[in-house]
Formats: sequence, structure tokens, C-alpha cells
Amino acid sequence: MASLDSVKARQFAKDVVAQLRESGYEALWAGGCVRDRLLGCDPKDYDVATNATPDQIREVFGKRRTLAIGAAFGVITVCGPRAAGQIEVATFRRDATYSDGRHPDSVAFSNAEEDARRRDFTINGLFYDPLSDQVIDYVGGQDDLARRIIRAIGDPEERLSEDKLRMLRAVRFATTLGCEVDPETMRAVQRHADELKVVSVERITAELRRLLPDANRRRGLELLRESGLLAEVLPELDCAGDAWRQTLETLGAMKEPSFAVAVAALFRTVHLQSASNNAAEDSCRRWKLSNGELEGVLLCLKHETTIRGAPTIDWPALQRVLIVARIDELMSYFEAVAQVIDGTNEAIQYCRQTLARPQAEWNPVPLITGDDLKQLGIPAGVAYRRLLIAVRDAQLNDEITNQEAALVFVEKLWKAEFSH
Ligand code: ATP
Ligand code: MG
Repeated sequence: MASLDSVKARQFAKDVVAQLRESGYEALWAGGCVRDRLLGCDPKDYDVATNATPDQIREVFGKRRTLAIGAAFGVITVCGPRAAGQIEVATFRRDATYSDGRHPDSVAFSNAEEDARRRDFTINGLFYDPLSDQVIDYVGGQDDLARRIIRAIGDPEERLSEDKLRMLRAVRFATTLGCEVDPETMRAVQRHADELKVVSVERITAELRRLLPDANRRRGLELLRESGLLAEVLPELDCAGDAWRQTLETLGAMKEPSFAVAVAALFRTVHLQSASNNAAEDSCRRWKLSNGELEGVLLCLKHETTIRGAPTIDWPALQRVLIVARIDELMSYFEAVAQVIDGTNEAIQYCRQTLARPQAEWNPVPLITGDDLKQLGIPAGVAYRRLLIAVRDAQLNDEITNQEAALVFVEKLWKAEFSH
């Protein structure tokens, strides 16, 4: 995605509209891309809405340039030149009833106005004609965008309970776009927040991946609590007193955190307050985080004490944390924690200074390896790990500085402690 060229993507989105028009169909840009352009930012991707049916769309662009994965919902993907990406072209539709709170029972093809009305929020219900440079607004989206208001289209009660994920989307868009949630829409979220349960955790976590790393994440978290949704997504979080203040401030103090780092800040008090060591891990698993995300969260929580004690702690113990591959993420986590909890950056600066020194000084090549132990005639087994740790500690503490000394050291240790 990152390699997409925004100028080419935009041109391609315009070409798709032009080609549909030449074939006699209506076609407009729709939804998020219109909103983002009006806000002056580059859309992440472009969606086109049209009165052509999926079969007709495929006829216009040819089978080879289209993918019909979403055809049952009226969506055809049109593939563009390499750097331009893909465009989803969707037939105008009206959703029928939602009996499960997640998906419409059926979809019926329709016209532009009805297609606008089935969308979630007024700011997401806009169309734009890139050929005549005109916004087409059936739902008052331009006014709300100008006033920065997230407002459900139609009756909020009805719209939010049809698809319960919309409740979380309201908070996510309010956060990332710096908007207020319209009071009536907010009341509807509050009344139905406990129904978020019916939504799949993957869809929920996908929203949280957008919300938690955002620059406005502190306000996002406040909105999550105010809306009642926080109690659904993270019931184990302490939302009162000092614990809550620390959570808010730590999240707020972070600079461009990855999702894993933001989650670590959010789960910090859960981790500290729980009697079990696995509380944060259990929460991560419930959110179905990827292995990489889970690892990032747990690394932050696990190494917090070591890093915060950096200037005074045993050097080899600290060194083993500083060499982890994700040290940049860890530092960004600790920096915020230190600022809020300790009120000083001393420990972080100590770590940063160490990391800035040449690797050879603070992470020298080990003096010996398992092969050397073998050559000394030490039988392979559990002792290897402990011997190598002991010799590494001695090396890091400058007690031994060359291979010869390391071999003497390890042989002596083996004989004294392990060989019987
Ligand atoms: P972004 O991609 O930046 O998250 P977006 O508005 O493009 O924002 P998408 O999830 O890509 O969001 O959806 C595209 C459009 O589809 C939205 O702008 C909205 O009009 C409509 N839409 C998406 N999800 C829903 C939903 N749950 N209910 C109703 N309409 C929706
Ligand atoms: Mg989008």
C-alpha cells in the first residue's frame, strides 16, 4: 500500500469513473475518499459507486482487469496500473433488514440517494463527481464535516443497532478526524454499547488498530469510556482513580506508538493489578492480536522494571533487554511510562546513550560458543545455556576480556558446579 502513488491512484479513480460514464452509466466517487479529499488529506483508497450491475461493470473493464470476489454484494474490484492500485466499484444499493446486528440479510440494487442513506455517518455518505468537480450530498455530510460532527444517517437508534460495529466506528472516526459525536448519536451508542458483543472480535480489533495509535488516542480512550464501549472491549480495565489517570496520561504521552506499544500502555494496569502473570496476555488473545503484536505488548510489560531501573540495575540484565530487536518500540513505551509515573527521563536517557555508542562497546561478540564447550569435552546438555550465560555476564562486566580467559573461566565453573 505504501508504495502507491497518490497522484496515479487519483488519476486511475477518475479514469474508472470516466470509462463507466462513456458506457452510459452513472458513476461517482463515494464514501471515505470524498470525505478525506474534503478534509484535504490523501484518501487511503478510492471507492466508486455506480448504477451498473456487477456483470455490467465487468463488461466495461473486461474480465482480465477485474476481480469478482465481492460480486455477491455488488462489488467488483478493478485493477489499475501498478502504482495506482485497485478500485472497488460497487453498484448503488439499499440494504434490507439486519436481523443479526452484523450483516444485512440481503442487498438490493438501487440508486445513488438510497446508496448514500444506507451508509453509516453523514460524513461518509458523500459522493463526488471527479469529472465536473461536484460534491453530491443527500445526507448533510458537508455541513457535518465542516462542523466536525459524526452523526448517524437517519435514526441513530435504528442505524447503530442494525450494525453494531458502527458504534465503535463512531468513536474511531471522532478520534482520528478530531470530531465530536453528535449528542443523539452518542446517546444511542450509550444505550446499545453492551450489544457490541455480537460483532466479531476481528472487526472490533481492526477498529482499535486505527484508533489506539492515532495522535488523538487519549481523547479516543475517553470517548470509549464515555460511550460505554470500553467496558465491552476491555472490561478488566480499571477506569477509576489513579489507575485510570495513569492509563490516560501514558497513552497521551506516547509519540507515534505502534499499535502494540499503545496496547501495552492500555493493558499496563491490567497487568500490574492482576494476581495472574497472564492477565495481559489473556486480553491480547481475546483481541486476537497477531503474534508480532502480542510479542510487542508482552515485551514492553515484561521489561518495564528493568529499563526503569537502568542506571542502577545489573548491567548484563539490562544489556539483554537493550539488544532485543524491537528496542525502538520498547523505548517509546518506557519513555511515556517514565514521564508519567516517574516524572524523570533519567533511565531512558541512560539507555539511549548506551544504544548510541558503537555496538562493539556494549554488545561485543561473545568470547565463546557452544562449540568451544564441546571442544573442552563438556557433554552437551542443560548446563550449556547456564555456562554461556555466566561467561557472557563475566564478559559484559569486563571480568574477562579474551577467549583464553573465557575458556579457563568456563572450565573452572563446569568443574566446580556442574560436573558432578
Ligand atoms: P477508512 O478507510 O479511512 O477507514 P472509510 O470511510 O473509507 O474510512 P471503509 O470501512 O473503507 O471506511 O468504508 C467505506 C465506506 O463504506 C464508508 O465511508 C461508508 O460510507 C461505508 N461503510 C463502511 N462500513 C460501514 C458500516 N459498517 N455501515 C454502513 N456503512 C459503512
Ligand atoms: Mg476506506
